[in-house]
Amino acid sequence: MSQKTETNHLFSEIRSRMPSADKPFLIIPGGESITYGEMVARSARFANALVGLGVKPGDRVAVQVEKSPAALFLYLGCVRAGAIFLPLNQAYTPAEIEYFLGDAKPTVFVCDPGKADALAPFAKAAGAALETLGKDSKGSLTDKAQAASPEFADVARGPDDLAAILYTSGTTGRSKGAMLSHENLASNARVLVEEWRFTGKDVLLHALPIFHTHGLFVATNVILFAGASMIFLAKFDADEIMTLMPQATTMMGVPTFYVRLVDHPRLTRDATAHMRLFISGSAPLLAETHREFEAKTGHAILERYGMTETNMNTSNPYDGDRIAGTVGFPLPGTDLRVTNPDTAAVLGPDEIGMIEVRGPNVFKGYWQNPEKTAAEFRADGFFITGDLGKVDASGYVHIVGRGKDLIITGGYNVYPKEIEGEIDAMPGVNESAVIGIAHRDFGEGVTAVVVPSKGATLSEAAIVKALEGRLAKFKQPKRVIIVDELPRNTMGKVQKNVLRETYKDLYKA
Ligand code: AMP
Repeated sequence: MSQKTETNHLFSEIRSRMPSADKPFLIIPGGESITYGEMVARSARFANALVGLGVKPGDRVAVQVEKSPAALFLYLGCVRAGAIFLPLNQAYTPAEIEYFLGDAKPTVFVCDPGKADALAPFAKAAGAALETLGKDSKGSLTDKAQAASPEFADVARGPDDLAAILYTSGTTGRSKGAMLSHENLASNARVLVEEWRFTGKDVLLHALPIFHTHGLFVATNVILFAGASMIFLAKFDADEIMTLMPQATTMMGVPTFYVRLVDHPRLTRDATAHMRLFISGSAPLLAETHREFEAKTGHAILERYGMTETNMNTSNPYDGDRIAGTVGFPLPGTDLRVTNPDTAAVLGPDEIGMIEVRGPNVFKGYWQNPEKTAAEFRADGFFITGDLGKVDASGYVHIVGRGKDLIITGGYNVYPKEIEGEIDAMPGVNESAVIGIAHRDFGEGVTAVVVPSKGATLSEAAIVKALEGRLAKFKQPKRVIIVDELPRNTMGKVQKNVLRETYKDLYKA
């Protein structure tokens, strides 16, 4: 796969855009600032340590560790060594890790020191050397890195060589490894820096996990490509974010961050007046959250849409209307179309169908899964995202849900988002998730799972009654279940697969 090249495609571009060596790259609250010069030295140490462990270009380095500066330098060290970085969610159980290691066959597996004993047998079975790296950036791999040289000659890699494999979050099926090339990552970072106007003056609040495309590639690569700085936080804490906000210019978050900030007493127009930009993605931002945030701060959150396989595809405009409930326009260089899922015919404005994308951001296929890869690409190179949506007459893209969440009841298609929108607008409702559950007469029965607002009491009968005049009969939920909270994964996505499993017998006699 490797082309003739003398440079490391991704890291050379990071180098070419680098500010002065003494400029902070990471600002660690209550701790050190780590400069760009240190970023180069520390990533070199990790690259040397990996080479010392036998890692060759194209080898996988699987990593299940807590968020830490060292984990970021390990990512960059992998890229520089020509290896393929393979980060794994900390929440994965040993049984899941066994699957990932067996599938990816990494040369090295790095885990938290506290998990090493439990995971050692799986590393051994997969033929991987086991190393550790803790939340405090300490561990056997750090020891090796510290003993290694801070100089490293970057391994030559071309644009199409792989830089990372990210397993999909698997809310609709078994996780698959998305193969991302150097140019997939570089092209997206380049475009996003331009679209969102990042410069060396920016300071980003970074409270996202770094095993996922959002915190790892969108946030980190954009900062590196802009030569900017980021305040690097172990996790999201609304109080801490409000305390650090005066030092920042921008923030990237998942919708739940914004839901929590809207409720925070210190979120005011004054507290955010100096901020340049708030960006949201990874799950739908409720139009209501968008409006509340704007009412309190004067800032219209910029929502964008992407996925593990494609990096970012669309974004609301920096200049121009950021429309609540939409994900904006396709990014420059990315083609987007909506098709009929059955016939693949391209649909017109406002027609709902499957979102397909093509561009330098789109991945190289699923790791060791040519069948799945072939099934999800069209002959002309478009990737079938699995998201249903439409493009409106002004060109804004709207997402109505995952294809697998579509409900077919009595032969009619029901888009959960439409029903959720009606329910969410009712007084006393915090949020809702609408799912299809097997039903003898209808195929699937529309079912709403609803979370009341704090202090509110809701009843199934009242919700059903309120929807009667608002929705066609076939769209009305057959049952409404009231719960305290919806199951979510670490990126804030509602796990409809979990809900479908929990209520699978609801309509069984
Ligand atoms: P992941 O691969 O974990 O990043 O998940 C990607 C999926 O998240 C997409 O296919 C969408 O279903 C969803 N997603 C990401 N951003 C948005 C957004 N702004 N609005 C709605 N859904 C989104």
